[in-house]
Amino acid sequence: NSISDQEEAVKEFFQMFDEMQQWERSSVEVHIAEETFQSWVCEISTTGEEVTANEEESHPQQFKKLILFSGSDYLGLSSHPTIKRAASKAAQEHGMSPRGSALASGYTNYHRLLESCLADLKKKEDCLLCPTGYAANMALMISIGSIASLLAVGSTPSEEDRIAIFSDALNHASIIDGICLAERQQSVEVFIYRHCDMSHLNALLLKCKMKKKVVVTDGLFSMDGDFAPMVEIVKLRKKHQFLLVVDDAHGTFVCGENGGGVAEEFNCEKEVDICIGTLSKATGCYGGFIACSKSWKLIIQSRGCSFIFSTAMPVPDVVAAHAAVTVAKKETWRRREIWKRVQDFRVLTGIPISSPIISLIVGSEEKALLASQHLLTSGFYVIPIIPPAVPPNSCRLRVTLSAVHTMEDLKKLITTLSQCINFKDVDIQISNKIAK
Ligand code: PMP
Repeated sequence: NSISDQEEAVKEFFQMFDEMQQWERSSVEVHIAEETFQSWVCEISTTGEEVTANEEESHPQQFKKLILFSGSDYLGLSSHPTIKRAASKAAQEHGMSPRGSALASGYTNYHRLLESCLADLKKKEDCLLCPTGYAANMALMISIGSIASLLAVGSTPSEEDRIAIFSDALNHASIIDGICLAERQQSVEVFIYRHCDMSHLNALLLKCKMKKKVVVTDGLFSMDGDFAPMVEIVKLRKKHQFLLVVDDAHGTFVCGENGGGVAEEFNCEKEVDICIGTLSKATGCYGGFIACSKSWKLIIQSRGCSFIFSTAMPVPDVVAAHAAVTVAKKETWRRREIWKRVQDFRVLTGIPISSPIISLIVGSEEKALLASQHLLTSGFYVIPIIPPAVPPNSCRLRVTLSAVHTMEDLKKLITTLSQCINFKDVDIQISNKIAK
């Protein structure tokens, strides 16, 4: 080929490259929060094609309609029209992927807005969104674990700098996993106290010679539906001066006049130093958060691996969660309604349940499986919890209530339940009830 032919080919190649970049522009444009790059705020809207859903794919097979009594959609917001509209508009405008972690390109003004809403809700200085509630617990625990090493600046941490973590025996798996990672730092020692047993916690705290102590507990326990004894924990906090961390995944927007969760319910918001939450339960969306002080946020942002090295929450999820938080705050009847369902369940069965999470301990694995199967064929989806999730012979049916279950749904469920279990025989956790 002649030189001019070659030059032409090269020109053509560069032209094609330019065009390709133009065409792909929509997938590299970002909405970056003012806070991340103070002087560089991009507000470029994407111009992606509209994608229409494949009808066949959306409805691939026949299905049986069941009433879900095993979800975490406590306020019935997972299909609220305002939230769905907000999410689909955001998806059209911004696409689905944040295309990076929060510290890279994934943090937008929408993230910031949701963070400040959640900080307000939890009465904390600030808040950090994480990809999920699981990641939030991991990020916090890893960060706690690394603080002592930070203080020791490279050398082995002294006894002064070591941190003691006290964790309830029935805390959520994500706390346990996070603690395991924290423990690897060798600057942390872990003490497990018997479930909600404050005299055991007090004894462990008394025995512990380490100065820096952290107590971590679920607010509303996910399996048994009982509450952490917040009033007693706060008394112990005054006595032993520890950092109090509460994972309120299930209590947020279910408990407290304003939906602030168990801390609001037990009037101890100030005493809870760090609050973990998820957006996947009462708000019916997806994502996790840590409400805390500005300095804790900074530590987690620089130490919490599951936050640093994971893709940020997608904008449609963030926008949906923000809409859900707004609805959950405004539509207070939903909170009243779920507690009415709890009261109705109590009256109809005579079982003294304490929250919308009802763990009916029926005994053997066979009993639990048969009961769940019977409920399934009668139109109810209730999951059986069997070993290894629980010890043998303490198998249970985990029933959860929602504000949008009708009285008729509830009555039918209870009639069906009574055909396979005897309410007088079931065992449940009734520690730390709240007066509702
Ligand atoms: N903490 C608790 C107490 C939970 O029950 C859950 C969810 N099962 C999580 C954290 C994790 O939240 P996510 O589903 O958002 O990861």
